[in-house]
Amino acid sequence: MTETISKTSLAGMSREDLRTVVLEAGVPEKQVRMRLGQLWRWVYYSGVTTFDQMTDIAKPLRAALAERHTLERPALSERQVSKDGTRKYLIKLGPGIEVEAVYIPGVGRSGALCISSQVGCTLNCTFCHTGTQALVRNLTAAEIVTQIMIARDDLDDWPKSAKDLDSRAITNIVFMGMGEPLYNLGNVAAAMAILSDGEGIAISRRRITVSTSGVVPQMHDLGEQTQAMLAISLHATNDELRNELVPINKAYPLVELLQACRDYPGASNARRITFEYVMLKDVNDSDAEARKLVQLLRGIPAKINLIPFNPWPGSPYECSDWGRIEEFAQIVNKAGYASPIRTPRGRDIDAACGQLRSQSIKKRASEKLKERLAAQNAS
Ligand code: SAH
Ligand code: SF4
Repeated sequence: MTETISKTSLAGMSREDLRTVVLEAGVPEKQVRMRLGQLWRWVYYSGVTTFDQMTDIAKPLRAALAERHTLERPALSERQVSKDGTRKYLIKLGPGIEVEAVYIPGVGRSGALCISSQVGCTLNCTFCHTGTQALVRNLTAAEIVTQIMIARDDLDDWPKSAKDLDSRAITNIVFMGMGEPLYNLGNVAAAMAILSDGEGIAISRRRITVSTSGVVPQMHDLGEQTQAMLAISLHATNDELRNELVPINKAYPLVELLQACRDYPGASNARRITFEYVMLKDVNDSDAEARKLVQLLRGIPAKINLIPFNPWPGSPYECSDWGRIEEFAQIVNKAGYASPIRTPRGRDIDAACGQLRSQSIKKRASEKLKERLAAQNAS
């Protein structure tokens, strides 16, 4: 009887794990360093998907690697391309377990990939669709890293020569997809170490932004461990309203949150903290609140990002009128904060903030209904 072993993928593995892989493939100790360097570059610089492409690795070693491993990425359940170039990937991590990543062109030097850190979210911000999902688990570091690998495959964005490095499609990463990254800091930090490694995917830590709803006790560690750029989902200028919109505020109120921002390692005028503010009609969008916002952020090196609210089926809010958003923005602008309104992207494919997965859930519900009706008809 032949023994069947389930093969593990190298895509998403850390250097330490790949070192073990190289050792287990029978590479003598004194060659491990060199072979590991080669393997790392094939996996993370070139993004190869077959062992045969690893031309500077001897055939017997390639065969030994292929015996136990693959270079597979998690499967795509769905891929959608918007009229404006936004691309949405629904990634299947297991039965019923899916996360989304969204590519947004025209951000930073070229484009940003918005990635998820958890399946669902344990927090229940009232305007966010992710918060309504029942199933929650942390993503592994590999599951975070492979979101970028999948997008690079799709965008044909692995460099073929050194000059391609200046024209990469994905130059920035934002942890603004599903989940609260600071509830999964260990894996987020491990993923960032892989993503920012100069011999591989090489996206610098200053181009990686982590957005948090305000998990104050983890903010310092985030800065120390990852040197990530910080974004805060602020959304309100007083505790009473913020308790309602972003309930974690009850545990860590505004004074504590803003103090943690002042203390964030590495924050400076060159490395400003982004404050996200979702525009909810007649809820948080008055002139008085714009003035209060500016006042609250005094003394913090800050950027403000006004996000038009993206409604989802059953959402309890409406987006502020465009004129109101512009007036709010003007007050913020006059106080010295530039270009603050985030243009909604990918609306036609439900790729905008807080809408992730809603369409696919709806679609599956209607497919299930069809299946049920078909079964009824057949019986
Ligand atoms: N959990 C983290 C990161 C993911 S949410 C956080 O809350 O910061 C990313 C951003 O999208 C947050 O600023 C969040 O408040 C915003 N967002 C969520 N739902 C939204 C919606 N329906 N419309 C607009 N922005 C939304
Ligand atoms: Fe979670 Fe962020 Fe959505 Fe709040 S806004 S429920 S923290 S994903």
